[in-house]
This record gives sequence, C-alpha cells and structure tokens, in this order.
Amino acid sequence: MNAEIIAVGSELLLGQIVNTNARFLSQQLAGLGIDVYYHTVVGDNPDRLKSAIKIAESRSKIIIFTGGLGPTKDDLTKETIARHIGTELVMNNEALETIEQYFKRTNRVMTENNRKQALILEGSQVLPNDHGMAPGMVLKTGGHIYMLLPGPPKEMEPMFLNYGSKELALLTGVKEQIVSRVLRFFGIGEAALETEIMDIIDEQKNPTVAPLAGEGDVTLRLTAKHRDVMKAQAMLDEVEAKIRPRVGQFIYGYENTTLFVELANVLKERKWTITSAESLTGGLFQQEITSISGASSIFKGGIVCYSNEIKRDIVQVKQETLETYGSVSEECARELAENVMKIFGTDIGISFTGVAGPDELEGKPVGTIFIGIALKGRPSIVEKIKLSGSRGANRNRAVRYGCYFLLK
Ligand code: ATP
Ligand code: MG
Repeated sequence: MNAEIIAVGSELLLGQIVNTNARFLSQQLAGLGIDVYYHTVVGDNPDRLKSAIKIAESRSKIIIFTGGLGPTKDDLTKETIARHIGTELVMNNEALETIEQYFKRTNRVMTENNRKQALILEGSQVLPNDHGMAPGMVLKTGGHIYMLLPGPPKEMEPMFLNYGSKELALLTGVKEQIVSRVLRFFGIGEAALETEIMDIIDEQKNPTVAPLAGEGDVTLRLTAKHRDVMKAQAMLDEVEAKIRPRVGQFIYGYENTTLFVELANVLKERKWTITSAESLTGGLFQQEITSISGASSIFKGGIVCYSNEIKRDIVQVKQETLETYGSVSEECARELAENVMKIFGTDIGISFTGVAGPDELEGKPVGTIFIGIALKGRPSIVEKIKLSGSRGANRNRAVRYGCYFLLK
C-alpha cells in the first residue's frame, strides 16, 4: 500500500511556511505500515492542483491532501477534487452544527462562506475537527483513497491521530496502529535510568520501552501497537504506571516540553511570581524564563550579582556571611534568595552561586553550586549540586537544576 501527500498552499511555495504537515503524516503513515512514495506541494490554483491530482492517481493508491479546506476564496481543495472525480459536494449537518455552535460560542456572526466549510464530498466519511471548523473527510472511490485534512497543524494533527488513522486502517486493512509517548527526565543519567528499569525494557514487546538519544534530555519513548488507538493509549498508560514507582520523581513532562515551559505553566496556574539573584549563571535563568511567551505575568525582574560588593550592597547579603562562609555557600545562597524575593515583592526567589570553572574559587572546587529557593511563608531551601562539565555546561545545567528543584 503506498501513499502520496499533497500539501496545498501558495505560502508553502513562497517559502513562508515549512511543510511540517508532510513530515508529520509521513511519520504517522510509516507507523501504519503505509509507504509514502511522494510529497507534492502545489499552490492555491485549481488547474495546477488538478494536474497534481492526476499525477498522484497515476502512481499512488492513497492520496492525502492538507490545506485549503477553509472558508475563503483561495481554499479550493474540496471543490477541485469534487470536479475532478465527478462527485457532488453535499451539506453535512453535523459539521454545519459544529460551525454554528462555534459562532454562537464566540459571539460572532456567521457568514455564507462559513457554511461552505460544512460541505463534504458525497459518500465520504467525515473526520471531525475538534480544534477548528472545517471537517476533514475520507473517500474511497475508483481504486483510490482520498483523504482531505485542514492546513493548520493544530487542527490536522489531532484529526489524523484521533480519526484519520483509524479510518485509513479500516479502509486499507492495516491491522495495527502505532501510538507513542515520550517521557522527559531530569536529574537522572541515561545509564542510571536504564539500570533502574532494565527488566521493564527487556520484558516489554508491546508496548516497547526505549531510551531516546535526545538533545540534552534523557527521554524514554513508549510505543504501543493496536488496531484501536484508544486501546493503544491504555497500553501506554499501563506501562507508564509500571515505570513511575521506580523513577517517577525524575519525570518532568511529556513530548516536546522543556523544564522552563513546565515551570512557567505551574507558576501561571498558581498565579505566582518569581525573581532571581544570579552569580555564576549571570542572568541565564532570567533569559530562559523571559524567552517564554506570557512571561510578564510570572516574572518581574531579577538581579545579576556577580561581585561580592553587589551581593552585599544591592542584594543585602551580610558582610559577615561573605567573610565567614564565602559567596559560594549555603548561607549566601539562602540570603540571596530571601532578599531578592523581598526586594522584588514576588512569591518566589531563586539564587545561583557557585564555581563555574575553570579555576576554583574560595578553595571550593569547580562545579560546586548552591541554589537557594525562598518561598513566601515557607522555610527556604538550599540545594547543593556538584557538576563536572565545562564552564558553559555547568552554568546551563545549574539553571535547569534550579527549575527542577522548583518543580519538585
Ligand atoms: P483555514 O481554515 O485556517 O484557512 P485551511 O484548511 O484552508 O485552513 P490553509 O488555508 O491552506 O488551510 O492553511 C492555513 C494555515 O495552516 C497556513 O497559514 C499555515 O499556517 C498552516 N499550514 C497549511 N499547510 C501547512 C503545511 N503543509 N505544513 C504546515 N503548516 C501548514
Ligand atoms: Mg485557508
């Protein structure tokens, strides 16, 4: 069984957007055991789309279209296919209702061209759109399977995963669907993780459990095969429930998230604000947190206190603390976190002080780092970590550890 993906949209040809739909669908189809032989990209032009369809029909059994299902004039995928295969477009009442409800909910006036989105190819199976208005559809006719999906990835991807893949499996007789889940870890090395769950990795055939060579993060990919996607998901839940009691404290998220995204989500949810006083990390924590959109609701500002004078004069660390324990100390980290929280009037203050390297400092070895965490109305915590990387790696890891401690 082979397939061709036709992405429709002039923005793709103009280089304004990247064809991520083709990548996503190719990965999914491979999982279903369907070979993708061709990717085609064509603009919003009916004649050129028609010739792309003709070529696809001559060489591929399954043709999957993305884009051009919207309400505007340039959205003409459906119309062009209908004309080409000699099928009528008919109103689908369920899809129409979804669109009407969407307009009611958002208090907007529905126009005639919005109704156009509820038209489907006669005889096709509707693929509901849970994240937008235009329904997708799939039609088996004349020896081909035509699947039409919307352009926006946030609509197209869940539509394919929840409905499209199931229909394709039924129509092509593919027995199994493949569903996967990525668990992201922090604070445990890849080797240690594997050792902890070696027996689970070994005994699992379906789902499979495999460490993924990630970009910095330690991850596990769980993959289940089943004819029914929901069953496959349940199988993933089951194996995750076996893994969690052993190493669950190191799991911080799923799929493509980061520690900072997770932290920002928690802070936004609780309506908490945060600030930082940073010595060895020189503002890296602030840079990371402000790179997340909507950071203004959780982050007010922070201080880079690289020298002892600034720690003392601006962040008000006691001279005595600096003299007795030094700046790389539990005591200094605690005062930095508590004081910066007071100065900025936030709910949380975090501090980073330590030896980034390459030379030792105050007689403390490279990689010795103290992270202070002050929480309004609760006793402060100081975590000491020992890193062994380069200067840059130590600074990067320090802020990620800070995030991880906050999430715990
Ligand atoms: P809409 O109802 O939003 O108009 P549509 O089904 O008509 O949806 P298009 O108008 O073709 O789809 O594209 C809408 C948006 O979806 C594009 O601006 C782009 O952001 C995204 N998109 C479309 N095709 C692709 C693609 N192949 N890969 C990634 N993103 C895409
Ligand atoms: Mg459109």
